[in-house]
Amino acid sequence: MLEVAAESRHVPSHVQRTVVFLSAMRHFGAELAAKGFRLHYVTLTDPANTQSFETEVAWAVGELQPERLIVLEPGEHRVRGLLGEAAACARVPLEIRADEHFLTPRETFASHASSRKNLIMEFFYREQRKRLKVLMEGGKPVGGDWNFDKENRESFGRDGPHAPAVLRFPPDAITRGVIEDVRRMLPDLPGRIDMFGWAVTRKQALESLQDFVEHRLDEFGPYEDAMWTGQTWLYHSQLSVPLNLKLISPRECIDAALTRHAKRPVPLASLEGFVRQIIGWREFIRGVYFHEGPAYETRNYLDQHGELPSFYWDGKTEMKCLRECVGQVLDHAYTHHIPRLMVLANFALISGVHPRKISDWFLAMFADAVDWVTLPNTLGMAMHADGVTPEQATKKNPAKGPVVGTKPYAASGKYIARMSNYCRHCAFDVEKRTGDDACPFNTFYWDFLIRNKEHFRGNQRMAMVMKNAERLTRPDVVEITVSAKKLREKLGIGAVVGA
Ligand code: SF4
Repeated sequence: MLEVAAESRHVPSHVQRTVVFLSAMRHFGAELAAKGFRLHYVTLTDPANTQSFETEVAWAVGELQPERLIVLEPGEHRVRGLLGEAAACARVPLEIRADEHFLTPRETFASHASSRKNLIMEFFYREQRKRLKVLMEGGKPVGGDWNFDKENRESFGRDGPHAPAVLRFPPDAITRGVIEDVRRMLPDLPGRIDMFGWAVTRKQALESLQDFVEHRLDEFGPYEDAMWTGQTWLYHSQLSVPLNLKLISPRECIDAALTRHAKRPVPLASLEGFVRQIIGWREFIRGVYFHEGPAYETRNYLDQHGELPSFYWDGKTEMKCLRECVGQVLDHAYTHHIPRLMVLANFALISGVHPRKISDWFLAMFADAVDWVTLPNTLGMAMHADGVTPEQATKKNPAKGPVVGTKPYAASGKYIARMSNYCRHCAFDVEKRTGDDACPFNTFYWDFLIRNKEHFRGNQRMAMVMKNAERLTRPDVVEITVSAKKLREKLGIGAVVGA
């Protein structure tokens, strides 16, 4: 097991992301050693540590002289490449074992993909429900519908949420040791460490799962998309972190929810919503990552080239929604999926930021970030960038429509006003489209539609929205375009279209 600083530097990893990863490794290493396994463990502070993954692998292969290098399939094409090179350099065969943590073998996803013209999560999810026999009754979905998404969009109204406190885990001696080492070896990582409370052992992960199914699962569905000032966790589970660290399995999460339901019925919109996240989205996104291959990360369907504004790193902005959501990320290396999709990524999408700039930020700043999950979720779903236009097509990246989403998740300030209380405490006016005090989400939303008119022509799912954009008068279009350009300059985004 190797702790190398370079893995926290290839994107500038949030300090909690680095600590949760290394602490889980050290706890697991200690468990293996206690069970009598022979373990070669290189710590971050080992004076001989070269702090580079490939060099350390090469050194270990030279030192330990293995007959074969056997690894679990990495969750990142980059790491797969490094392992291949290390094995080739040392002239030992590399054996890659399938990752059984996931519910969908690579061949199952490939066969699903080859049976359809387009990959659509909803159809994949239905197959998963049938194949895994989850929430099925006599070959039909329990409750008569596959999906209760429409019941999962409640806001908290004026009163706000009354969510129970979540179970957090104060750092133990091993985690405190990791924090010290990270402070010494990686002093400049972004984010706060004093709020650390992630599960770092399997036991804690299982407690976290129980805490969720007992205390928050019932309300999870209706308030899945709601946001509120000062409330990071609400009815969400925090399970993405221990799941992506493989401290618990997706099957255990589903079983815990179904057992709770058998004991004390859970509203179907909540139970189905949770099941959809675990066996639907999570598995679909991973399937897309491997199905599309390494060239996926280079895609930029909407041809956007803007810079990421500096407030993504320090939260210093007058926009209350972004200040709040970036603040949650700096404090906890986490926000739930709607701040991610509809505030943080939406702003990058409509303002014209390059998809890799925001995707790398998500990879850097979230405790649950791994390339297989971050890339299709951000570059694909949130940035609508995973298509290839005929002009962009190459041999490795042939022309195709966007893969993860058939329409972009672009929204104006209206959506944020409906789903949160942020706009009530903001310096900007969510009712205004242009002007110094206009909500920047509104200016950029309309500019986004104007800029991408050609892209969305013929997209049935965008027809209604584009009709509204076409109703804009010529002076409106000029005013929006000029305002958006000025705003981009002010925020350091620069030009949308590259040189
Ligand atoms: Fe965000 Fe606009 Fe609402 Fe302010 S007014 S909180 S910028 S959506």
